[in-house]
Amino acid sequence: VNYYLQKIQTKAHLNAFVEVYRDSALDQAAKVDEKISSGKAGKLAGMVVGIKDVLVYKDHEFNASSNILKGFKSQFTATAIQRLIDEDAIIIGRLNCDEFGMGSSNENTCHGRVLNAADESRVPGGSSGGSAVAVQANMCTVSLGTDTGGSVRQPAAFTGLVGTKPTYSRVSRWGLIAYASSFDTIGIFSRNVRDSALVMEVIAGPDNFDSTASRKPVPHYSELLHFGKRAKVAYLTETIESAALQPEIKANTLAVIDKLKQEGHQVEEVHFPLLKYVLPTYYILTTAEASSNLSRYDGVKYGYRSPNAHNLESMYKKTRTEGFGEEVKRRIMLGTFVLSASYHDAYFTKAQRVRRLIKEFTEELLNKFDYILMPTTPSTAFKFGEHSNDPVAMYLEDLFTVQASVSGVPALSLPNGTDNQGLPIGIQVMANSFKEAELYAFGNYLM
Ligand code: GLN
Repeated sequence: VNYYLQKIQTKAHLNAFVEVYRDSALDQAAKVDEKISSGKAGKLAGMVVGIKDVLVYKDHEFNASSNILKGFKSQFTATAIQRLIDEDAIIIGRLNCDEFGMGSSNENTCHGRVLNAADESRVPGGSSGGSAVAVQANMCTVSLGTDTGGSVRQPAAFTGLVGTKPTYSRVSRWGLIAYASSFDTIGIFSRNVRDSALVMEVIAGPDNFDSTASRKPVPHYSELLHFGKRAKVAYLTETIESAALQPEIKANTLAVIDKLKQEGHQVEEVHFPLLKYVLPTYYILTTAEASSNLSRYDGVKYGYRSPNAHNLESMYKKTRTEGFGEEVKRRIMLGTFVLSASYHDAYFTKAQRVRRLIKEFTEELLNKFDYILMPTTPSTAFKFGEHSNDPVAMYLEDLFTVQASVSGVPALSLPNGTDNQGLPIGIQVMANSFKEAELYAFGNYLM
């Protein structure tokens, strides 16, 4: 803990941490030391973990990086965090992110932007940018993020880490501040596959506080990392031939494909004509869900209340106008529009249908093949401000990560070399729902 506290201090300018739990982390560490000497320590003893500012921790403030939640303290602890603590992990602090998880660059935050330690003039990715940089710059062993449409995998790719998004419902969402409830997952940043597997087996599983959490038993992922079979792998023409794809990322992805073939695995190219619909489907459905989820922030129960209000209605309006950032407001308006009576069928209902087609295609493909392989992102980390005035360009960053989110299947991003400027490149592997063990084993083999 002292080592990490030191790092957090020397790397403070990266702005990954919003709050450091110095005293409680040291106290927890002393207790864990005692448990270790008496042979009673849990399986995460000594693991130092940072948590994204959208996961709640009893008696600690959290803001979802939004002014609207400034000063709000939680009365309970997220299930995932509680399970880490129960296995003697040490929670070292709270990590910066895009407001309510909405963004791909960690520029939409009330806490100020996070810098990528590989090149400080560039974004760390988002929305879990702080969670990525905290592990990248050695400020904690692993971190929790959330992945609704790529918010763990994309920043992991931008910072050279392993980023895991589990199957939807594998990890309880109790205590995760909702962005788009039918997509939200809690994911993990780590330096290697083993750490992620170990954390996942601790945080996953049924939870009486979240009726959507799956009751399927959780395998001991960390003991199933040996990969000894001939894999069947598909890659999608439309991803590898995408005009948006940076040439070095394409080359590095093709190199992995060639290597797998040489090692005797069956690798085939498959067409995915629906790719162009995945991003619009994702943004229609997530903004709809967000507009509904965020309606609770009205100045009555949570955090900020405008001091300029003179009656109930102006309190709602002024609180929301002053409390939410630009991107969050854009999404609330988009979501309200696609859910409105006259446009509901044309946008929301249609997007639900397309979601079903994408999910069916993905699951069928993953019945035929063990894995789908593709780049995690079209480009490496971009410069601050590069997409700030063009929301659509920003949304395009999620081109390859949203398929797993729309389909609910698990996906890993693994480091796959660097581009000619030395910036990390990520490669993404997807497997069918609840095949985390197979995903981790293959990921371990690829690394
Ligand atoms: N960048 C995507 C978005 O803004 C993904 C966010 C996420 O996964 N939380 O919606």
